[in-house]
Amino acid sequence: MPSVFTRIIQRELPAAIVFEDERVIAFKDINPAAPVHILIVPKKEIASINDVTQADEALLGHMFIVAGQVAREQGVAESGYRLLLNNGRDAGQEVFHLHLHLIGGRRLGPMVLRGG
Ligand code: AMP
Repeated sequence: MPSVFTRIIQRELPAAIVFEDERVIAFKDINPAAPVHILIVPKKEIASINDVTQADEALLGHMFIVAGQVAREQGVAESGYRLLLNNGRDAGQEVFHLHLHLIGGRRLGPMVLRGG
């Protein structure tokens, strides 16, 4: 079964796409946590960081380059933003197709709740 993000890449599902090249796509999160909430997704369907190999090194680097570019285009490069990657159950990963969340446009508060 293709992931929901692969279905977006293949234009089987709609999305508000803000960036695309041959290796990466970026689109607005459907349930945004902040005024700017973009998902940066490799077109290669990698389930999680657990599945990354040496062959993906350049692709992962490219995702960060794209993140910086998208942040500038979204107007949060100077105000600041958070890049977040949920990996596995304890992190609450919902979609098992690797993705970076780019979240900004307001004060984001602490990175994680401490304690517990
Ligand atoms: P994660 O918990 O890191 O796996 O995050 C998955 C993210 O994908 C969530 O923030 C969802 O709101 C988002 N999401 C799920 N389906 C879609 C979709 N069809 N279009 C845009 N974002 C989506």
